Amino acid sequence: MSETYLVTGGNGYIGSHMCRLLAQHGATVHVVDNHAASPAEPVHGYGTFHRMDIASAECGELIAWLRPTAVFHFAALANVPQCQADPLRAYRDNVAGSLALFQHCVEAGVRRVVLSSSCAVLGEPEVELLDESLPLRPASVYGHTKAMVEQMLGDLCSRGSLDGLVLRYFNAAGAAEDGSLAENHRPETHLIPRLIDAHLAGEQSTFCIYGDDYDTPDGTCVRDYIHVEDLARAHLLAERWLVGKEGMHTFHLGSGKGYSVREVIEVFEKVVGARLPSRVGPRRPGDVARLVASVERARAELGFEAKWSLEDAIRHALASRLAMATTAG
Ligand code: UDP
Repeated sequence: MSETYLVTGGNGYIGSHMCRLLAQHGATVHVVDNHAASPAEPVHGYGTFHRMDIASAECGELIAWLRPTAVFHFAALANVPQCQADPLRAYRDNVAGSLALFQHCVEAGVRRVVLSSSCAVLGEPEVELLDESLPLRPASVYGHTKAMVEQMLGDLCSRGSLDGLVLRYFNAAGAAEDGSLAENHRPETHLIPRLIDAHLAGEQSTFCIYGDDYDTPDGTCVRDYIHVEDLARAHLLAERWLVGKEGMHTFHLGSGKGYSVREVIEVFEKVVGARLPSRVGPRRPGDVARLVASVERARAELGFEAKWSLEDAIRHALASRLAMATTAG
C-alpha cells in the first residue's frame, strides 16, 4: 500500500490502533491531534505527528499539502459524562471541529472521509439487534453531536462534495494483541478498564455496578463489546470498499453478541483467575438497558467478522495495562 492517510485523533484509543494498522500495511500515516482528549505526548510511533486542532487553518494547510487518500476522523470529545457536563465544549470539539475538517477536505479536493460515530446516535430503540435503518434519536449530548456530524457529512455527500463512511461503534474494548497501546482515558469511565483498576487495587476495592433494575435478564445493562483491533480492521476494509463509490454509507460495527455487566464480570474473573468483589450502586444517568449491533450489513458488504472475543479483549487490555505500569514504574 503506498497511500497517504490522515488520522485525526490518532493519539487516542481507537485512532492509535488505526495508525498502527495502516503503518503495518505500508501506508504513510499523518496524525493530527491536539492532545486535549489524549495523553500529552504521542503514545506510538506509527506516523508523523502534527500537534494541532482540526479546526485550525494550519490543519487546512496540512490537508491541502498532503492530499491524503482518505481522512479517518476520530478526533472528538468521546467521554459521554464529560459531554453531558460541558455541552459547549462537546458541540465545539465534535460539531464545529468536524465542520471545519470537512471544509478543509472539500477545499483540498480530498473526497474520502471515514467518520468515527457511535450507536449513541440511536438512543434506545426497542429492538433486539440494532441495524443501520433505524432513525437518529440520540438521548445524550454526545449522541446529539455525533448525529449532527453524520447529518453534515450526509448533506455534503448528497451534494457530491465528499464520499463518506459512517462507522457506528458499539463498545470498543481491548488493546493490541501484543499488549501495547493501552486504553488510557482520563478520567476513565469505561467498564473494562475500571474492572482492571478494581482488580489491581486489590482487597481495598469493590467494583460498583451501575444499577441492576434494568429490563434485562439479570437486571444489569447489556452491551456489545468489539475488540479495538477488529474495529481498526473494519475501518480499513470499509475504506477500501468505498473506492469507486459515491455518497454516504453507514455500517454498524459490533460483535452482534450482548453481555450484561454481570456477565462481563464473570468473564473478567475467569481471565484473572480471581473473584472481583462487587456491589450494586445507583443507575448512571444516560445509560440505556441494551445496545447490541446487527452485524449483517458489515458482514455482507465488507466481509467483516469480529475475530476477537470479549475474553480476548479483557486479556489484551490487562496485558497492556500491566505493560504500561511497568514502563511507567
Ligand atoms: N458500568 C458499570 N460500572 C462502571 C463502569 C461501567 O456498571 O464502573 C456499566 C455501565 O453502566 C454500562 C456498561 O458498564 O452499562 C458499559 O459502560 P461503558 O462506560 O464501558 O460504555 P458505554 O456503554 O456507557 O458507552
